[in-house]
Amino acid sequence: MAMYPDRDGDYMMTEPGSFVLDRNRDVVRIIMHQTWAPQTLHDQAPINYREWTKATRAAHAAKADSQYGVSAHFTVEWDGRIFQHVDTKDGAKGTRDYAYNSIHIEFAARDEPLTNDQIFYGADLMAWIASEHPNVRLITVGNSNKDPGDKKQQGITCHSFVEIVGKVDNPKLDCPGVAIVNQINTVAVLASVRALIR
Ligand SMILES: [Zn+2]
Repeated sequence: MAMYPDRDGDYMMTEPGSFVLDRNRDVVRIIMHQTWAPQTLHDQAPINYREWTKATRAAHAAKADSQYGVSAHFTVEWDGRIFQHVDTKDGAKGTRDYAYNSIHIEFAARDEPLTNDQIFYGADLMAWIASEHPNVRLITVGNSNKDPGDKKQQGITCHSFVEIVGKVDNPKLDCPGVAIVNQINTVAVLASVRALIR
């Protein structure tokens, strides 16, 4: 059981297949995403919960044994409020490659940079993740879609990076987007400091 203690609430995924029980045996990375809805939309966690449930149900309605599902462990709202959707010991389905042994964090943004509150509270969340899952290193993997890091993808990385390195068809190049990619070093440094002073 690994629930972030300082969260402002949770919308736990319950639809079968939207997450995988006990799949995160050895967490080695944090994968950053953007929600793709603008920061003026202030309560995105319940929307994520509803949309992911709906998409997973629709896949099962179309094909009962479909393995399709979608989720992330956390949503970080524009003002730094954090909501949990999946226990960190369980696998979330946030990427096509490197989905497991990973913690997926959705930041409320539509190609916008993270707000100061998202950076601060997101970094604190990452420090907690590293305390729960000691094989997570709070350093960045890669710098851009052109330099997405090595095959291990161990550390703080991005949705686009893991899909480029994983060579999936049509990698999601715009998640979390350039504005957030440009901030990952800042987030990682702050997360390292938070880890030291927790
Ligand atoms: Zn994503």
